[in-house]
Amino acid sequence: MRFLLLIFSLIVGASLFAEPEVRIGILTKYSLTEFEIQLTDTTRIFYLGKDTTLSKGKWSVKLKEGKIYFSNTNLKIQGEHILLRSNKAFTITVRSKDKIFSRSYTGNLEFYSKNKRILLVLTLPVEEYVSSSTYSELGELLFDKSMTEKGKNELIASQEIVIRTYIKNEKQRHEKEGYDFCDLTHCIHFAGNINKLSIYPGEILTGKNLVNGYFHSTCGGKLTGPEVFWSKHEVSSHYKRGNDGEEANCKSSPHFNWDTILATSELEEILDEENLISIQTETKDERVMSLKYTNSDQKQKVISIAAFSTKTGKLHGWNKIKSNYFTITKIGSHYRFKGHGLGHGIGLCQWGAKNLAVNGKSHLEILEFYFPGTELRK
Ligand SMILES: [Zn+2]
Ligand SMILES: [Zn+2]
Repeated sequence: MRFLLLIFSLIVGASLFAEPEVRIGILTKYSLTEFEIQLTDTTRIFYLGKDTTLSKGKWSVKLKEGKIYFSNTNLKIQGEHILLRSNKAFTITVRSKDKIFSRSYTGNLEFYSKNKRILLVLTLPVEEYVSSSTYSELGELLFDKSMTEKGKNELIASQEIVIRTYIKNEKQRHEKEGYDFCDLTHCIHFAGNINKLSIYPGEILTGKNLVNGYFHSTCGGKLTGPEVFWSKHEVSSHYKRGNDGEEANCKSSPHFNWDTILATSELEEILDEENLISIQTETKDERVMSLKYTNSDQKQKVISIAAFSTKTGKLHGWNKIKSNYFTITKIGSHYRFKGHGLGHGIGLCQWGAKNLAVNGKSHLEILEFYFPGTELRK
């Protein structure tokens, strides 16, 4: 796929040594087979070794027998791999079973026919992606009533630096699928382009030990290091551990406390186990690292929190076990998970950072708090 991109880049005359770019798999959640695309300007399209100019306006995109059809009332183009090269924003409208929604993007968009769906890969400059994904990630936090304009900029700057650090270190996440990051919280939430530039372009976190730009919504009051969630991860001094402030910085988050009941049968399905008898948490910094459980044969087994979270999310939705900061109590044929926070509690706590920004802290102070002993460099 990268080879094809290279050919396309040469065809369209884009320099490979221009501004660094990032490849994002967009709308990955929707298994698209058809949608509409609204072009705001005439746009070049490349397909089957040919190219043509599309007029602005509405175009329909459909997958049929492994081929992508791109058409309006006057023109029909088809191919298994199509590239749209646009300098202006375009809007994609998706009609899924229960809703219609539109998202606006800029950049070069590739369409691939893959596994009976249309895979969309957007290529855009890293700094545009850093800025846009920061807005998608922070969302409602930027509209907090008590936030000043300065506070908002400090919060944005800190999230941008963390995201940029993450991009630098995690680019191989979706290598097999042919792009760098998906647009979901699995990587970085990206709901489209807003054409803003980042506040301090190019700055990333560095330190004596390893440091990566991990972040999460709400720590629920307790922060930890990456080795808790990913057991093979090196222990590093550059992640704040323990309390997120004297009185938790993120206490106003709607995810601060949560409570979930799972039936024994649901838990057995997650653990791929029959006759579950008991389950206990193993913790570090009060956050769950793994779960130890026994069945009726008294065989004790262990599952890592990363594996447990992924399986629970896939089987029962991502809203059931929101974080790895919880306790478990058995109640009859059910298990009660009483927890705090949303996410893994590593690095920047977004709701906590918002509170620090509201209280006048600069992005440097916010970053020093969540990533102690780190420095910024280009
Ligand atoms: Zn991803
Ligand atoms: Zn927090």
